[in-house]
Amino acid sequence: MFKKVLIANRGEIACRIAATLQEMGITAVGVYSDPDRRAMHVRTCDEAYPLPGKTSAETYLRGEKFIELAKLHGVDAIHPGYGFLSENEDFAQACHDAGITFIGPAPSVIRDMGDKIIAKETFTKAGVPVVPGWSGDTAIGIDALKKESAKIGYPVLIKAAAGGGGKGMRVVQKETDLAVAIEAAQREAGAAFGDSRVFIEKYITNPRHVEIQIFGDSQGNAVHLFERECSVQRRHQKIIEESPSPALTPELRAKMGDAAVAAAKAIGYSNAGTVEFILDQSGNFYFLEVNTRLQVEHPVTEMVTHRDLVRAQLAVAAGEKLPFNQADLKQEGHAIECRIYAEDAARGFLPSIGTLERYIEPRGPGIRIDTGVSHGSEVSVYYDPMLAKLVCWARTRDEAIDKSIRALDRFVVMGVTTNIAFLRDVLSHPEFRAGNLHTHFLEQHAIATSPPGGVPSEALIAAAIAARLGRRAATPSQGFDVAAIGPWESAGPWRGP
Ligand code: ADP
Ligand code: ADP
Ligand code: MG
Repeated sequence: MFKKVLIANRGEIACRIAATLQEMGITAVGVYSDPDRRAMHVRTCDEAYPLPGKTSAETYLRGEKFIELAKLHGVDAIHPGYGFLSENEDFAQACHDAGITFIGPAPSVIRDMGDKIIAKETFTKAGVPVVPGWSGDTAIGIDALKKESAKIGYPVLIKAAAGGGGKGMRVVQKETDLAVAIEAAQREAGAAFGDSRVFIEKYITNPRHVEIQIFGDSQGNAVHLFERECSVQRRHQKIIEESPSPALTPELRAKMGDAAVAAAKAIGYSNAGTVEFILDQSGNFYFLEVNTRLQVEHPVTEMVTHRDLVRAQLAVAAGEKLPFNQADLKQEGHAIECRIYAEDAARGFLPSIGTLERYIEPRGPGIRIDTGVSHGSEVSVYYDPMLAKLVCWARTRDEAIDKSIRALDRFVVMGVTTNIAFLRDVLSHPEFRAGNLHTHFLEQHAIATSPPGGVPSEALIAAAIAARLGRRAATPSQGFDVAAIGPWESAGPWRGP
């Protein structure tokens, strides 16, 4: 097993990976940009080294810098987390070339799966159902493209081959809009991914997003760890995820799981990955893409399977056999993850930056919080404004919803605006409770546009001012003593360089 692993990431995922490394007796090496100098992940890691600069491009996207640090400090392996360099085949290859293990699949697999056109072709051959569509050279001209779209049937979706993070997609309702949409998608894809290739897909109306966690090892074994339903999305970005999906029967679950394992085997997949599908209203499922990394929402799977996915990633990366086979894996109870963001739902979800004047997490049985912030942390403009992931486990879905709502009510964040009230509105909606989810759930029920419930902002401001002045301040809504918690400096020794 590795002795020293560098985490090429920041925030909650860096802290989460460090926790498993330390459990396994492996030294966790962190990195930090200038704005992250005092971040939680720096204190959590056993060693931490600076990446001078502020923006992601200057810091967490500097592959060569990670390799240099790894060589200098005797690191055996690099865990990329998610985002940043996690799906960058050049970085994975550079690690291998430098004799450092990249904790993830082979570079060639990352490359092929990063191209949605290649991925769809590969899985069509492997017998995995894919969304009907067309791909090819758009230079065939608009008349030919109109013919292809008519064959697919409107509405169609123009997607970027290199797409990710919901970017580079355009829905086209009718033929007269096709040319403009293709040009726009090509422009956006070119700017975002440096690759303007697009393809056309049938646009499925109000589908569910249901994905399967897969895991493979270098000895050709592959299993799935069931599904996560991620239909609650805003701009194609997931907000709430859960497992099991309320839409799957045991038969459909087995079928989707088998399809995902077939996909994994078709590409010789090693390490953790996710096969994303959309599920239409008649129960047909179609392959969307493979994410070749640990997913943001992986804790939901960990809670229902009682497995540590990062531990399994390390084992497989070190050349060991998968620590579980399919028969070992069971899905027990129900888990829901809410992504807590520093953003203002009432103002178009603008990121809200500032200092966390108060930050108190809910506690209780079945509550897991993955975070990279604490009392006093700065939320900067430079990175993703996700503060924490609240993951609640209970025996049934109803209990998990109730537990999540209670936990959100007790989650105190002051100094920045959060989406906590918004998340509460979603979980409290009768259609959410009924499990009637689809990817336009939020628009259909106009949840984002409803005024935020809970504490009036004036009360929060008053409490934050009181707190700053060092007086004892009770939260206006929850009524418990927020001043009881100490300043963040008391949270642990500085473990920087
Ligand atoms: P998940 O299901 O893990 O949330 P996402 O597609 O939302 O997957 O991506 C996870 C993280 O990776 C997010 O921070 C997202 O912004 C980032 N990301 C995804 N694809 C890309 C990409 N092509 N380029 C840059 N960042 C990306
Ligand atoms: P990304 O790489 O940006 O995550 P995906 O292909 O995974 O791109 O799609 C992201 C989201 O866009 C899906 O979760 C779904 O909500 C929507 N979507 C993608 N393809 C289709 C489609 N053919 N029909 C309807 N919705 C789709
Ligand atoms: Mg996706």
